[in-house]
Amino acid sequence: MLNLDTLLLVQVCVTLLTTALLVASACYTGSPPELRWWALGNLLVSVGLAMTNLDGLPVVLSMVVGYGVIAFGLGLVLRGLRVHCSDTLSWRGVAVITVLALLVSAYFSLIVPSLRARLCFSGFYFALLNWLCAVTIARHGGWRGVIISVIGFTVLGLALFLRGVHMLFHGDPADVPSSLVMGASMLVIPLAQVCIAFGLILMVMWRYAERLRRLSTLDALTGALNRAGLEIHGKRVALRAQRGRRSLAVIMIDVDFFKTINDTYGHPVGDEVLRHLAGILKLELRPYDLLARFGGEEFVLVLDGSDLAAATKVAERLRARIELELVEIDALSVRYTASVGVVSSDQHGYDLIALISAGDAAMYEAKRTGRNRVIGG
Ligand code: GH3
Ligand code: MG
Ligand code: MG
Repeated sequence: MLNLDTLLLVQVCVTLLTTALLVASACYTGSPPELRWWALGNLLVSVGLAMTNLDGLPVVLSMVVGYGVIAFGLGLVLRGLRVHCSDTLSWRGVAVITVLALLVSAYFSLIVPSLRARLCFSGFYFALLNWLCAVTIARHGGWRGVIISVIGFTVLGLALFLRGVHMLFHGDPADVPSSLVMGASMLVIPLAQVCIAFGLILMVMWRYAERLRRLSTLDALTGALNRAGLEIHGKRVALRAQRGRRSLAVIMIDVDFFKTINDTYGHPVGDEVLRHLAGILKLELRPYDLLARFGGEEFVLVLDGSDLAAATKVAERLRARIELELVEIDALSVRYTASVGVVSSDQHGYDLIALISAGDAAMYEAKRTGRNRVIGG
């Protein structure tokens, strides 16, 4: 039912479609550079494959330049993967990959012509390049988009490697098209190409999604949750504490006379104070606790499993530490204090909005009664 011509047609169509998919996703103006390397690399591999398979081309073009173009394309794909993994592959590296393919295929085409040697070499060499791609992604970690690409590159490498081995041991190239290995590899290669294209696009998509999630829920200055993040995660933490019949405490912290810090030392120093405060507050976080920047210089800590007494101890420890620490910026040393309000679900229930509002009232009471103090409400 599946003859080799059908398989070849499927392979050509899949190559064109996956290339078109990568090129289309790279055309978006804000696309990351790696997508462009992958698209261009795939395009070149397709061109190279066409050159090596077209009848009537001069040997230099089909058997030498064709392999060079495929190798250059794979070099670009590898470069794109390295870029994606916060690394790089220099142009010299890409050139070495290409020149090696050109030299060996030129040797086996023009100097010591041997179709078998050339096919062996191309099988092993392109397998190696695909495996290098797989290793590059696998070493970078993560699993979602990554695992699909790793499987794709590994399987593609394996299919090419087996072609090379087959050529080495069953050496009449004229028989190759009808062999079992050839048939199996022609079936597997398009599947691997689909895995690779989808895996690469998913890798970029998940990175964007993660960046978007961070941008929408985290405060860029301090890395604490922002209001939206607090709303999303706060409900979950409150519900978990309520279901587990644990107390939930909220600590509201507001820097005293922060406007004066800004006015005296400038806004950038004010920003540094906010980062410093967030750093101190983060030290108190346990796995299910939350830290959010509630307003300009106001932070909220949500502590799962802490009652009023325990949270007040934490708040007092924080207040004392804030008062003690110096923020060093260039030649400047800035000291600041904070007023703190503490409340717990035991007195106010598990509704986070009600808890925050009660915590805010306690914090303003601390301001009213002299600042740099903790008030429980
Ligand atoms: P109080 O002791 O009563 O809390 O006085 P305060 O000066 O701390 O409070 P006020 O509300 O008068 O001033 C808060 C200031 O925080 C005003 C605003 O310009 C500043 N601010 C808000 N967001 C930022 C920020 O992201 N960076 C910096 N540097 N300043 C900020
Ligand atoms: Mg303030
Ligand atoms: Mg304030």
